[in-house]
Amino acid sequence: MMLPESAQQKLVDEVEMFIEYGVEQQERAAATALVKKYQNNPPALAVLLEFYKVLPEAREEAVVRLAHIDSLQGVTLLAVSTMTHSYGAVVSEGEAHILGEYGKEPIPEEILGFFGFSDSEELVKSYGEVKDLPEFGVKGTDVLCPVCQVKAGECHLLGCPVEICPWCDGQLNRCNCRFEKLELESLDSEEQVEALQALLEDKGRIPFQPEQKPGYPGTSEGLDK
Ligand SMILES: [Zn+2]
Ligand SMILES: [Zn+2]
Repeated sequence: MMLPESAQQKLVDEVEMFIEYGVEQQERAAATALVKKYQNNPPALAVLLEFYKVLPEAREEAVVRLAHIDSLQGVTLLAVSTMTHSYGAVVSEGEAHILGEYGKEPIPEEILGFFGFSDSEELVKSYGEVKDLPEFGVKGTDVLCPVCQVKAGECHLLGCPVEICPWCDGQLNRCNCRFEKLELESLDSEEQVEALQALLEDKGRIPFQPEQKPGYPGTSEGLDK
């Protein structure tokens, strides 16, 4: 998710306000330092905001680390750690939910199923303990599409402006290929989008790679091809 700068600043301000109310004085500096670190990372900010809103178990603690558990099709699973506790968290399309204590409380079934696990223990065993998980949002550990948040090697969520068109190598949501292939003037219905998806899959979609950047008018070569 790329938010306009002002929206991002608003989110930072909001997190800091909740820290002011919810975190003990002596831990506030640590809490705001982490917010600063993630000020340009909307999914991380969404998780921090939700954490300080919910304040699990009413413990008035600062979050000192966000760790990356896994990402799949734009849904990211994280571990949120204070000095003494760690909780699971899930974020999708800018919406975060705080789960129970990581490794202690069960993870909701729909999240387990989504990531391909049948129980929480199996998941924790597969990803490891919180201290062994990589820090969230650090280059090299978890490169996600900057817009739709899928990870390297996965297909973008359909409509993501970073996706490259397999027919012309332009920007898929800006070139004319989709209209030409469907012989349509515009894409208005769910059926048309599904038809496009089928055509794309036949042709072979180009998955996200870290070197792909969001394309904007005039910056992407191949747009006019
Ligand atoms: Zn994308
Ligand atoms: Zn194209």
